[in-house]
Amino acid sequence: MIMINEKRQWQLLKEIGFSRVGGSKEEKRAAQILKKTIEATDNVAFLEEFEVDWQDVKVASLKSEAKEYEVTAYNQCANTSKEGLTAPFYYLTADNGVGLKNCEGKIVLINDYLRMKIYEKLVDAKAVGFITYDGELRDSRENTDLDNREIRELLREKKNLPGVHMKIQDAMELVLENPNEITISTVQDTYKVNSQNVVTEIKGEKCPDEVIVFTAHYDSVQFSSGVYDNGAGSVILMELFHYFLANRPDRTVRFVWCGSEERGLLGSKAHVEKHKDTLNKIVLNINVDVAGPVLGSDSAVVTGPISLVHYIDYLAKEKGFEILVKQDIYSSDNMPFASKGIPAVSFGRYGEKGQAYIHNRYDQLFFMDSKNLYRTAEFIRKFAVRMINSYAFPVPREMPENMVAKIEDYLKGKPQD
Ligand SMILES: [Zn+2]
Repeated sequence: MIMINEKRQWQLLKEIGFSRVGGSKEEKRAAQILKKTIEATDNVAFLEEFEVDWQDVKVASLKSEAKEYEVTAYNQCANTSKEGLTAPFYYLTADNGVGLKNCEGKIVLINDYLRMKIYEKLVDAKAVGFITYDGELRDSRENTDLDNREIRELLREKKNLPGVHMKIQDAMELVLENPNEITISTVQDTYKVNSQNVVTEIKGEKCPDEVIVFTAHYDSVQFSSGVYDNGAGSVILMELFHYFLANRPDRTVRFVWCGSEERGLLGSKAHVEKHKDTLNKIVLNINVDVAGPVLGSDSAVVTGPISLVHYIDYLAKEKGFEILVKQDIYSSDNMPFASKGIPAVSFGRYGEKGQAYIHNRYDQLFFMDSKNLYRTAEFIRKFAVRMINSYAFPVPREMPENMVAKIEDYLKGKPQD
């Protein structure tokens, strides 16, 4: 009997283990590797292209009275003049009113990610520019990534401010210096490039018009080899594809390796939009995002009926697989499907803090192994087989009200707790 091939799965993970930013050449290279792997089985694979923002950054700088700091400009942020924007500096530590009152006309350093909530407050408080930072103070400057962050469209629509990003060591220095005025310069040309999903399908033998869509994003972020997030999910999907090729499914299975997930679920959004006339055929979305850490725990998050939570929980108990199952939303490629009322479940094996790393140079194979990746894949396979070959499809195609509300908040950019 053909099952998940542990060695082949691990091998493919190594092959796609390089930084694959959505819209980049490297992402295209990874898409080709996945496409060729599918085509080697004589199945047809499509590249489903969609446009994403891109830019050539010409100038990115931050100067104080004392020195120049190393920064990157926020991708897609507002351009300053060539001379830059000079304004008073302010370090915002609490957005509860006092600090916000001090932001008007200033370039503001914030502690958090550039989230919707804080960004809206900065705009309302009439800040003229923003600064973010990232890293761990215990690391040296050299061992700290300075990545190119993006100001997303949802935020730009509110108002596009110029912004820069710096290393945590420099943020500390800047706060200690506490300059009266600083000058930031951000100049870039913006345009569109293509990103792409890789898509293949195996027709169902008995109910071809009922479709189960598997998704996993194969893009990663700058500096990250993205083997954990989410090369792991990508290669699990490939093994499931091999499995259903050899064991023909009763229902149609579609595999979508999504591009540009890290840039705001752009690939899955594009897929759902492109297939909007046939979404009624999709009965379930099974998403996989992160897997493989040795020290970690498996989890399934169901954005759908509570009966599906129980189903997975019972199956895990039957099969002796340790996994936490809950009903909630999960920020990954399942969301665009769920937002259209399609029940979705997202599987993953997570390392706790200090055991696994995402979105930086430490997302590497050293904390993962093929056995753990295999075990997670094998459970997803067992679950998928049950679903796909059921006599009557067991999951009602409905979205409970508590989930509908959460999905709406999520898509509007509201923070989740
Ligand atoms: Zn991910």
